This record gives sequence, C-alpha cells and structure tokens, in this order.
Amino acid sequence: MLILGKVVSADTRAEIKKEVARFEEKYGRKPCLAVIIVGEDPASQTYVRNKIAGCAETGMRSLHYEYADGTPQSEIEKTLVDLAADETVDGILVQLPLPKGYDERKLLSLIPDEKDVDGFSPTNLGLLAMNRPRTISCTPFGVMKMLETTGVDLKGKNAVVIGRSNTVGKPMAMLLLNADCTVTVCHSKTKNLAEIASKADVLIAAIGKPKFVTTDMVKDGAIVIDVGINRVDGKLVGDVDFENVEKKASFITPVPGGVGPMTITMLLANTLQAAKAKLKA
Ligand code: NAP
Repeated sequence: MLILGKVVSADTRAEIKKEVARFEEKYGRKPCLAVIIVGEDPASQTYVRNKIAGCAETGMRSLHYEYADGTPQSEIEKTLVDLAADETVDGILVQLPLPKGYDERKLLSLIPDEKDVDGFSPTNLGLLAMNRPRTISCTPFGVMKMLETTGVDLKGKNAVVIGRSNTVGKPMAMLLLNADCTVTVCHSKTKNLAEIASKADVLIAAIGKPKFVTTDMVKDGAIVIDVGINRVDGKLVGDVDFENVEKKASFITPVPGGVGPMTITMLLANTLQAAKAKLKA
C-alpha cells in the first residue's frame, strides 16, 4: 500500500492553518519564519520558494533574505544576529548547502536553539538523543508522521536506517529508537548491508543513490520509506527500486509525492511550535 506524503501533508497543513488562526487571534500576530539563502543553486531556490509558499498557505508570516554568492560572511552573520534578537521572529533557517567558502557551522551557531526550526542545533539533536525532543529535524519528523498513518505498532520492530547524516539518518534512527524499535544504522562502510536490510520490518533509505535498495534487500511485508531525492534524466527518483520493491512491501512511499512534501510541512509545524513555546501558548 502507498503512503502518500502529499495527502498526509495536506491534512497536517489544514490543522496547522487552524492553529495559526487561533494563535493570531490570541496574540495579535502571526507566527513568523525567516529564511536565508545564499547563492543561486536552483534546487535550493525551489525549496526556499516552497517554504515561503507554505507559510502563506498556512497563514504564517515569512521573511526572505537572498544573498548573492560572494556576499561577505559578516553581512549574513549580522542578519542572523538581528533575527535572533527580533521578538516577532519565531523560526530562522539558513538554506543548505551553502556555496563554498562560507563557514556553515559559524552561521548556524548564530541561530538560537529556540528558533532552530530545522532541528539541526547540537542542543536540539542532543535533546532528541535523550528522548526529550524539542525541535525535531523536519524530514525524519515527517517520516514518523507517515509511519503513524500505517497504524502499525512500532514497538519491538526491527528498523534499519541506511544513511547516517546529522540531518536525516541519525535523527531518524533516534526517533525510531525512542519509538521502541530495535535500530541498526548502515552507511558506506557497512558490511553485508543487503543481509542486514533484508531483516528489517521498517526500512528507511536516506542515501542519495538512485534505486540503491533492490528487492533482495527487502523482507516480505516490510514498511519501506524512501527519503532519497535523485535527478535522473531530468526525472526525480528515490533511493528505492520502487517498481519492484512495491510488490514485496506492505507499505511504501513513492518519489515524488512521498517524504518530500512532508519535510516543509514539518518545518511549518516546528515554526508554529516555536511561536507557541515562546508565548507559552
Ligand atoms: P548525505 O549527507 O549525503 O548522507 C548520505 C548517507 O548515505 C551517508 O551516511 C553515507 O554513508 C550513506 N551512503 C552513501 N553511499 C552509500 C552506500 N553505497 N552504502 C551505504 N550507505 C551509503 O545525504 P542526506 O542529506 O542524508 O540525504 C540522503 C538522501 O535524502 C538524498 O538523496 C537527499 O537528497 C534526500 N533528502 C530528502 C529530503 C526530503 O525532503 N525528502 C530531505 C533531506 C534529504 P557515509 O556516512 O559512510 O558517507
């Protein structure tokens, strides 16, 4: 069965929209997300446009800062410091990846933990590791929402995450562990990956390699979540060989229309949450 992120996403956005209206009525202002982009990378520009559009769709305010590649780092730092101090700004994000030459760690460190709506800060990741989550990285958070819709009890399930990035693989593994799964994390140095994956009740692919996960790596009846976004001959494809794996999986996410739409929706949810936390709403 397909888990359609675009449907889950639309339902979640409708809920967010209602809550945003309630927030505005009570506090006389809208939750606000500030987005900073540096350079002209087309994929990043599309993501930023969609984030701004998501704010508009749910009734939130957004601020958009666009800098040309080559803008001095100090100028971007100044904007971040100002946004950090601005009481009317609830969430701040710097679109990644940054062009070469920028100190990403320094820039991200200027976003206060309470405004880190991407959930990338060491504090927010640490809180997740301690099972005291505050702001959860948007993509894995979205995956958990999609898993919820299957109605499958995750307790004691064997979960395998392929990929260990700080933004997807690691927080994904922590969320599944917090949900009482038995979790194995695989990466490029893992031995016998296919064998490990083939024992998974829940298999998450976050690799960035088209059709990496083939049927021999998938257990009959497994839930398969494809986080990958790869462009092949101008088309978007995931990390899973969807046409064949679909026949074996109990639930599977397509690409496009699967995890992708959930990511921005969870960013909106995190921004609303940050606004409410600040005002203790
Ligand atoms: P990343 O930082 O490049 O991490 C990729 C991970 O895959 C690494 O941990 C790497 O292992 C592992 N890997 C690479 N080749 C492998 C191999 N041959 N065997 C086993 N593991 C391998 O990528 P990411 O940011 O986590 O993103 C992963 C994918 O998800 C990408 O396609 C990205 O575009 C997509 N993505 C989608 C969304 C969404 O909204 N749907 C959001 C974020 C990312 P090592 O650590 O050993 O190098």
